[in-house]
Amino acid sequence: MDEFAENLRKEKFQVPVCTVCKAKSWPPSPFCQKCLSRTVFRKVKTEGILQEFATSFVRDHEGVFGIVDMDGIKIIGSFATDRLQKGMLVKMTKCGIKSGTPFYIFEPLR
Ligand SMILES: [Zn+2]
Repeated sequence: MDEFAENLRKEKFQVPVCTVCKAKSWPPSPFCQKCLSRTVFRKVKTEGILQEFATSFVRDHEGVFGIVDMDGIKIIGSFATDRLQKGMLVKMTKCGIKSGTPFYIFEPLR
């Protein structure tokens, strides 16, 4: 399923959505996980709830990382601030692929 990566490379976050029941297919799949119909890539809301976060001191991977639940799509994102709280509303401000690894940057909403 490289359309997902292809979009990500262009800094676009798109998720497969079922053509029949409209369920989002996450992780990305060409078929709906609920009704097995085909999916098509669609832009989805990139606001979500911060579930957990932690600061990493791992060399070359320093930073603040958190798990964000965007309406059922759970994703690990990075933050430029550690002034975060569990349960707060956050928004993806940038995404892409760097050195072959996807990244998602979030910031608190408001
Ligand atoms: Zn479906």
